[in-house]
Amino acid sequence: MPVKNRFAELLPEITEWRRDIHEHPEILFETHRTSALVAEKLKGFGCDEIVTGIGRTGVVGVIKGKSDTSGKVIGLRADMDALPMNEETGLPYASKTPYAMHACGHDGHTAMLLGAAKYLSETRNFDGTVVVIFQPAEEGGGGGKEMCDDGMMDRWGVQEVYGMHNWPGMPIGSFAIRSGAFFAATDLFEITVKGRGGHGAKPHETIDPTVTAAQLVTMLQTIASRNADPVEHIVVSVTSIESSSKAFNVIPQSVHLKGTVRTLSTAMRDLAETRLTAIAEQVSGAMGCSAEVRYQRNYPVMVNHPEQTEFAAEVARAVSGDCDDAPLVMGGEDFAFMLEERPGAYILVGNGDTAAVHHPEYNFTDEAIPAGCSWWAEIVERRMPAA
Ligand SMILES: [Zn+2]
Ligand SMILES: [Zn+2]
Repeated sequence: MPVKNRFAELLPEITEWRRDIHEHPEILFETHRTSALVAEKLKGFGCDEIVTGIGRTGVVGVIKGKSDTSGKVIGLRADMDALPMNEETGLPYASKTPYAMHACGHDGHTAMLLGAAKYLSETRNFDGTVVVIFQPAEEGGGGGKEMCDDGMMDRWGVQEVYGMHNWPGMPIGSFAIRSGAFFAATDLFEITVKGRGGHGAKPHETIDPTVTAAQLVTMLQTIASRNADPVEHIVVSVTSIESSSKAFNVIPQSVHLKGTVRTLSTAMRDLAETRLTAIAEQVSGAMGCSAEVRYQRNYPVMVNHPEQTEFAAEVARAVSGDCDDAPLVMGGEDFAFMLEERPGAYILVGNGDTAAVHHPEYNFTDEAIPAGCSWWAEIVERRMPAA
């Protein structure tokens, strides 16, 4: 089965929604216009229930099948938020908001799930219930977690949940997936190295936190190279170094380091936190400084469940003829929280030969819409076949 004909017909309309959302990007939980647009569309489609304000600006829609002898409830999730950056695509529908851009294609994800909701509301050719989930703040704000914390899964009795992300570099409308750990845990750390400042010409009268911080930047790399099993995956990146002095001739009182740790297992995550804290405190101590460490566990590892992954791949093959093995991704994904609460799977859909996500020239590829929408609809119709 190739893409569903209905989505070829709906393509101009869904494209229009996508470009409208693209033109009006909103960041984190500030997706007020987008959430209102989603709720209004769902109402127009005749969804059975629409609830706004789940996870602050999240929207949930319920679509009941022709029958419900299965008692099954499937959640389909899209993200709605944009990124804090300026757009450089030069498109006629480029962002009208300074320092906001749909550079990760969440405009496309929202439009595709709306397209699927329209089709499923029209046809209702399934036995059970669909819950369409539109979340804010995927890009670092934990909007998915907030929706879960608001009791979404229990409130609508969601039993399985599915997610999708466009992927530049994969052929348009092709699919790729992997079972088990897929996207990394994205932890954050801050280290404040405190010494004793003084004159730049009299280091012997100071305890220089700059030299200590420099040791830390290189020593922290030994977590990956010396502490972690070489067959494991781990990234430790110091991404910011700030001194309390801005002068040429002042040794600062303190230096502040920031960075991120990416891991794909709990064991590596625990190891990273333990070693990072020990290195920061003990190297600083050896240099006569002290260190204050803040290690924040952010998004968890996103783990695809084997049974749902196999099913999602089977649906992808039905839609586009094939489904590739996706590579591991050391980026994070807020959908991880939903997959911790319910079994499910997350798939990649090809965006073609475009700029990478988070690049100022990136754009979602509208030609991928029929494949993405068909995958959503087939997930529902195959998982809960009409009686
Ligand atoms: Zn992103
Ligand atoms: Zn994204």
